[in-house]
Order: sequence, then C-alpha cells, then structure tokens
Amino acid sequence: MKLTRPENAAPDDADERQAKPAVICYPVDTLPKPDLEGYRTARSGAKQVKSISVPPRDARCLAVPAGSFFRITSVDGPQVGDLNLWNAQNINERFYSGKTRALHGTHVSTGDRLWSSLPHMRPMATITQDTLDWYGFDMDGGSVHDVIGTRCDPYTGKLLQGDDYHYCCHSNLTRALADFLDVPLPLAELHVHDVMNVFMCTGFLAPTYQYFMKASPVRPGDYIEFFAEIDLIVGLSACPGGDCSAEHSSDAAACYPLQVDVFTPEHPVTLTSQPSAYSQSHGR
Ligand SMILES: [Zn+2]
Repeated sequence: MKLTRPENAAPDDADERQAKPAVICYPVDTLPKPDLEGYRTARSGAKQVKSISVPPRDARCLAVPAGSFFRITSVDGPQVGDLNLWNAQNINERFYSGKTRALHGTHVSTGDRLWSSLPHMRPMATITQDTLDWYGFDMDGGSVHDVIGTRCDPYTGKLLQGDDYHYCCHSNLTRALADFLDVPLPLAELHVHDVMNVFMCTGFLAPTYQYFMKASPVRPGDYIEFFAEIDLIVGLSACPGGDCSAEHSSDAAACYPLQVDVFTPEHPVTLTSQPSAYSQSHGR
C-alpha cells in the first residue's frame, strides 16, 4: 500500500511526470475474435447432458468435454462462486487469471476468454452469455466476475485472524479435486490456483486502492455460460462469503448452492484452441 504521507518530496516536474498518457499494456486488436454467433447457433440446438449442485461452503469438480457449453446458475439466493479450470489431459495446464486480466481487464464478460498458464497460453473457455453484463462498473469502480482476486484460503485467515477455518474456497477446491482425481489432499492442493470470481462484485477502492468486495447483484436465475475450448476439469466452490457483502472465511454469511449444467451441441463446433506456437527457445 502506498504511504499516505510519502517520505520523499515530489520533484519540481512531478505534475508533468504524472500527466504522461496511459498506454494499454496489451492491446487486443490482434487477438482473434471469438465467433459468438457461431457459438450461439451451436448452443441453440444443444442438449443438456449433466447437471450438478455445488453445496454451500463446498466445491465440486466435473469433466466438461471440449466443444460443450457449461452454465453456472445462481439458485435459492445470491451466491458467489470461485472457479478453477484444468486441462483434463494435463493437470499442469491451468487457468491463468493474471494473464486473463492483462488481456481482458479486471472483470470479464461475454466474448472474453479464460487463458491457460504458460507455456500453453491458449483459450480454455470462452464466455458466451452473462446475465449480469448490465452491471458495468458502479460508482466505486466495482464490477462482477473479477480476475483480480485469488480465492479465500485458510493461510491468509490464519495470518490475519489466527484461526483455522476449513471451508474457504481454497480448501473446498482442494477437497473436490482430491475426490475427483482420487489423490491425497496435499497433491490436489498444489493444483488449486487463482480463480475467476463468478458473480462476485469487487474493485479497488480509492484512496488506498485496496481490494474491496460488495454485495453481489446476482439473483436466482442469473447465470454465466462458457464454451469449453479444450477438455476441461471444472472446479467450482460456493464461497463461504455467500454474496460477499460483509465477510468471508467464516460461517457467518448466508450461503446458497450453485448449479452447473453442461450442454452438448447437436452439431459439433470446430475447435480452434491450440497451445502457443512460441518456440520455447528463450534466446538460447
Ligand atoms: Zn471464497
């Protein structure tokens, strides 16, 4: 956090230095655009093949084959979800929230893609529908579906509150992945990673620009839908923060289940997601 009273005096040309134009780090003009119309045509004839409920303060993993759509729906009450994605053929290829943020901004919506870790760096999923796209950015700079948070975890809880809370999204995802892969918890835990915060409303609050959350605008019936660009393991935790209006990492908040449905198109969509073509020579 920046000092509110800096220890060093500003130089004479401070105003000039601060007035330099902002430049987008990663212009996306050259990024191939997803064929949203093509996805929606495929989706219109898709059949539901799976439906699971993620219990409150718990998580589930499920396989979603490439070419399928998966939908996360709010049911019963406002609830935030923490999403992890893995390549079902290679667990080491996982969702990369930092690079997704660098490409698409702090919060994602329809047409944005969830990118995988280096050296793969390819679209794992494309957002094809988002009933909360109306929210935009509010007066606090908050928005929904962020890729800036990490996931609530017992280590940060221990650091800040000194207690052991076992139903944070990190632990929920660890248990769910351990069950799904039939591996011990310590092995599964290594694969849990920074999430996409589904339905969560977050931002950075001036003047300190600390990470903040506020009550999610999600209501039962709202959903976000994705197209699986590769074979996926989808992990979703129903965060113990509920709608994240007050606190997380405890049993205090009202929590509700989240529903995940999988749909298979009648006519397969052509899959285009390929690992990065970079040589990996790294200058040698
Ligand atoms: Zn959480």
